[in-house]
Amino acid sequence: MTHTIRGITARIVDMPIRRPHRIGVSTMRCQSSVIVQVLTEEGLTGLGEGVVPGGGPQWGGESVDSIKVTIDRHLAPALVGVPLHGVNQAVARMRTVAAGNHFAKAAIEMALWDIAGKSADVPIHELLGGRQRDAIDVLWSVGAGVDDPVSELVSFIEAGHRTMKFMMGGRSPAADTRRVAEAVSQLSDDVLVVVDASGKWDESTARRLLPALADAGVDIAEQLVPEWNIEAMGRLTGLTSVWTMADESVRSLSDAHRITRKPSADIVAVKVPKLGGISAARDVAAITRSAGLRCYAGGTMETSVGTSAAAQLASTLPDLVGSDLIGPIMLTDDVVTEPLAVRDGALRIPLGVGLGVELDEDKIRHYVRK
Ligand code: MN
Repeated sequence: MTHTIRGITARIVDMPIRRPHRIGVSTMRCQSSVIVQVLTEEGLTGLGEGVVPGGGPQWGGESVDSIKVTIDRHLAPALVGVPLHGVNQAVARMRTVAAGNHFAKAAIEMALWDIAGKSADVPIHELLGGRQRDAIDVLWSVGAGVDDPVSELVSFIEAGHRTMKFMMGGRSPAADTRRVAEAVSQLSDDVLVVVDASGKWDESTARRLLPALADAGVDIAEQLVPEWNIEAMGRLTGLTSVWTMADESVRSLSDAHRITRKPSADIVAVKVPKLGGISAARDVAAITRSAGLRCYAGGTMETSVGTSAAAQLASTLPDLVGSDLIGPIMLTDDVVTEPLAVRDGALRIPLGVGLGVELDEDKIRHYVRK
């Protein structure tokens, strides 16, 4: 179906979070994102979210400020007033006016999927071939700055979460390893344990400490070494019983090709924002599976808008290891009328048309950056 875009708005919101969250590269005190609305001449509105961890440029190069400028000055002018047959044509047009800028492009791309779903009167997952599950397991993530991780973990295990993730990088690698080992020793064996160094360790440190992480009961080690060091990731994969996961190392289709050509990880974190949208994330998931690697639905601490986009795709993927779509539980408020629900440690897949969420303009007015 052809739509003509009448206008695109991009608003920065600063959302409250339940506690400061230290990840390897920065400490988040709130989560900022860019809420995008794409309006068509036919009267449909698509929602999107441009989101990076913490809102600043530390993790992905883009920030909420750069996302808004890229949309307002470059992506929106390239799309407004042009009849478009769907998501693919719009993605191609965005590529002609901006290289990279995946987080900004993903915000518009998911809004176009929302419009496509509304126009066909089905949820986005139906357009992707249909969902394979009604809910997705969500882990809980303990920031590197939390002094007493065990009591926080226990409350989430009691709430039904089965996977726990430790952000590292707040201390020396050895101290981080001791902190994780001490906490894991107090948890039951059936908890799946993930550690994430956000690329802060070097290879020799990782080689030295991986056996200790394995002994401690860690199951998955995410991005121990810098994102460019694919060869080191390959050497760390299979070194111990700990599965390795690539996150920052896979930011594009060609990255996915590089990591799977000679398999250099056991798992790839598939994130809609970092990859530039739902379509690119679906393609990366396919490349990942083509080499026998597993997919994990990565989150960027989205509101229910971006979380739904991630969940729409994740619900269609086979063999999902799990997800860190923790936005709905980390954020203490939302921008939609009916926030996505996490129950018994699992995110329910929204079943409404498109993304299945509607903006709450009062919330937007309250949280919009003035
Ligand atoms: Mn990560």
